[in-house]
Amino acid sequence: MPNTGKFHLYEVAPADSVPDNTTYPAVGVVRAECLSCFNLFTVCEEPGLTNIPGGGAAIVCSKCGSRQAISGARFAEFIERFPTGSDAAARLIAMANSKAGMSE
Ligand SMILES: [Zn+2]
Repeated sequence: MPNTGKFHLYEVAPADSVPDNTTYPAVGVVRAECLSCFNLFTVCEEPGLTNIPGGGAAIVCSKCGSRQAISGARFAEFIERFPTGSDAAARLIAMANSKAGMSE
């Protein structure tokens, strides 16, 4: 689920480089909505986005400072589910595919 508890993830893009000795790629960019203040924000570097050694990252709302550490498994699941890196883009693609699949 893109809902992590404190944030709703809209886009997750992995960083270009994969650090050694980690199971999951580092997170490069996250676009998320804060569920506390409904701020929609994009983070790509500290302090908004802090990669955790070994996998996962902590993201911080740019408006209210709400913070949550999200596991590497969660990010990997998101990226697997939305290979475009985007929840919205995946929905549009699914919508287009279902229309194309309809007869008539
Ligand atoms: Zn917030």
